Amino acid sequence: LQHMNRSIGGLVEGSLDGDLDIHDCTETENISDTFNLMLAKLRLVEESRQEFVSNVSHELKTPLTSMKVLADSLLMQEEVPNELYREFMQDITEEIDRENSIISDLLTLVKMDRKTQELNIAVTDVNEFMETILKRLRPIAEKANVEVVFESNRSVSAEIDASRLSLAFSNLVENAIKYNNENGWVRVTLDADHKFFYVKVSDSGMGIPQESLDYIFERFYRVDKSHSREIGGTGLGLAITKSAVVAHRGAIKVQSKLGEGTTFTVRIPLRYIV
Ligand code: ADP
Repeated sequence: LQHMNRSIGGLVEGSLDGDLDIHDCTETENISDTFNLMLAKLRLVEESRQEFVSNVSHELKTPLTSMKVLADSLLMQEEVPNELYREFMQDITEEIDRENSIISDLLTLVKMDRKTQELNIAVTDVNEFMETILKRLRPIAEKANVEVVFESNRSVSAEIDASRLSLAFSNLVENAIKYNNENGWVRVTLDADHKFFYVKVSDSGMGIPQESLDYIFERFYRVDKSHSREIGGTGLGLAITKSAVVAHRGAIKVQSKLGEGTTFTVRIPLRYIV
């Protein structure tokens, strides 16, 4: 049932791009058919909206519930040993950080989804742009003991919104580091033809089960909730990535083998298509 709900969600997301346009229908279709079709689509949109609100509420409540339990158990004890007190406060701080990440990811997503929000397109040196992203993520990679390499044998210049795409690629590389093994590697490659540039992010990590591949771009979907939570995931990163890629009229695909690793490939037009 959960999978079915997600499929409906995906369908709605995909069908939202202007396809409630009455001009889509051919002349032979009668008005009542068109009306019924629009009604069915609106129902799906409403269902998807309700599902999203319920997911958001659930995700925001989880850290709050943990904080409440931790604070209550501290308050219930007359005298709390300093060590225990510090341990509980540390846990509460982690839950606050988590709540913060969810809210800030949600705000990013909402901002990106707003159609009126224009892209800030500028001609960008993509090699330099990628190097900057990887440099920023180096401390995370070092901490996780994962080697990150960047390969490109051509210089690429493209019309992009650097801040949006920076979020998209950062999420992919951060995931490749997060869902990796000790002493693992991440390889980022940049290539181009006359129309598009391509960024590939491959890792030597845990991989994604085949049956999850259709859902990983959906909001709040996580293969392993508890593992993702442990390493600080909100389940919104790939939704943000996809939204930024789609806004550039690009495409993203994923290939993965459980226990061997994952490759995300992003294709972005060199010239922004209005
Ligand atoms: P999260 O914040 O949980 O990382 P994302 O939307 O970025 O959320 O990713 C969704 C889920 O996809 C993750 O929880 C994880 O299960 C899976 N995933 C994403 N990238 C990778 C990867 N490189 N290797 C293995 N699993 C991944």
